[in-house]
Amino acid sequence: MTVDHPRSVLTIAGSDSGGGAGIQADLKTFAAHAVHGLSALAALTAQHTRGVTAVHVPPLDFLGAQIDACFDDFDIGAVKLGMLASAEVIDSVADALAAHGAPPLVVDPVMVATSGARLLAEDALDALRRRLLPLATVLTPNIPEAELLLGHAIPDADAADAALDELLALGPKAVLLKGGHLPEDGPMRDRYVDARGRRVFTHPRLERNGHGTGCTLASAIAANLCRGLSPGNACMAAAEYVHGALRHATRPGRGAVDVLDHF
Ligand code: PLP
Repeated sequence: MTVDHPRSVLTIAGSDSGGGAGIQADLKTFAAHAVHGLSALAALTAQHTRGVTAVHVPPLDFLGAQIDACFDDFDIGAVKLGMLASAEVIDSVADALAAHGAPPLVVDPVMVATSGARLLAEDALDALRRRLLPLATVLTPNIPEAELLLGHAIPDADAADAALDELLALGPKAVLLKGGHLPEDGPMRDRYVDARGRRVFTHPRLERNGHGTGCTLASAIAANLCRGLSPGNACMAAAEYVHGALRHATRPGRGAVDVLDHF
């Protein structure tokens, strides 16, 4: 008798001890999408709702062992990348994905936390562009991350429209440019592009300071890709999911950030 194993989603990202972002948000999002979640910890942060107090990057061979262990046993339907901390970590993740034949890949180019803490070394940008963007099925930058990737400012909606094609030219198959940081009137606009064209996903702007929204969005996209949705529909459904989770967010710590509710 053959057993039909359900597919799993792997997150390679950082841990947030405060449970709002990173691996913790990813696994909650996978569970809420009814897919089995696997995790390889690329970095550990000591963190609460007021900021990051310390970062530990485990040895590269231990990160590799986690990724190998996941690929050696599970049927992985999608991979999500989050906080990777340094150029060396990026190189070893790119090598591991190449060795295992990467399934659909969501790259969240995590660089700086909303609190201001650096989550990616400044000299790692080039490695991110060179090694990971060409592998990405979907790249999910926010405006400040897109500005760093492109090397110029994105001050308004017209610049964001133009940036979408510039980001696609860096190698990903699709780009979801998150509009939350743009000084636009009216609803929040997330801009999407792939070889088939452009789409815009709009949501009412919520007066909330959400923590972990980027991680949750990228994980929801990966879960949706694992479940067989096209990249465009995976992004549309994920944007909807994050909006709902943010509407029901709670404020469990003493800081002024809301932690998403995944139920
Ligand atoms: N901590 C970790 C481990 C993360 O991966 C991220 C974002 O990706 C953050 C913190 C920052 O989250 P936010 O900017 O939503 O506060």
